[in-house]
Amino acid sequence: MDRQPPALNDKRTKAMDEKFCSTCGEIIKIKAEICPHCGVRQKGQISKAALMLFAFFLGGIGAHKFYTGKYWQGIFYILFCWTGIPGLIALIEFIIYAFTSRERLQEKYSANGGGVVIAVIACGIGFIFITGILAAIAIPQFVTYRHRAYQASVKAELQSLSVAQNVYFEEHGRYSTNLSELNLESNPMVTLEILSADDQCFEAIGEHEKLEDTLTMDCNGLQ
Ligand SMILES: [Zn+2]
Repeated sequence: MDRQPPALNDKRTKAMDEKFCSTCGEIIKIKAEICPHCGVRQKGQISKAALMLFAFFLGGIGAHKFYTGKYWQGIFYILFCWTGIPGLIALIEFIIYAFTSRERLQEKYSANGGGVVIAVIACGIGFIFITGILAAIAIPQFVTYRHRAYQASVKAELQSLSVAQNVYFEEHGRYSTNLSELNLESNPMVTLEILSADDQCFEAIGEHEKLEDTLTMDCNGLQ
């Protein structure tokens, strides 16, 4: 049992325009589509340069896997391309390809140029799809979050107005109708207005310039 793979023990000389049949191992012409010895159709010749370029530039989406017809592996590259891990693996594969002879690569892989087009299209569709889903989730949440933040800043301004009104009440026995009397350092984005004030109570509204609704406060607190 000293049989070895043909690539290792093959001492037959093959010319530049010849290759080994992928099925029976006989020497045939590189351009032969069908082996004259066994009659099996030959797979597409891989280009080492194309394989390396795909691995380097599009490896993160598995283009080199699609190029070599390994579609399932390619699909995993696409599925996990966002993690950056496939890109890292592809870079390692690029280095391995660089140090592997063209003959060895051609024995190992067969080319499928259309596969690369499939990879690019599949990744493009996937990218649009995932971006759409993320946007659909994130945008409403962001809008809600921003709305709450604006409301919080209006509440804070009204709270300091309330404190200032109570200080004013201690001194004057009534609440102020005039904002400038209260010496408020106000947020330029928030507009406060005192609707009414007397010796019993006051009422004020606050509005953020990015909010459509207003918040109301009186001497008992936020409404
Ligand atoms: Zn053959």
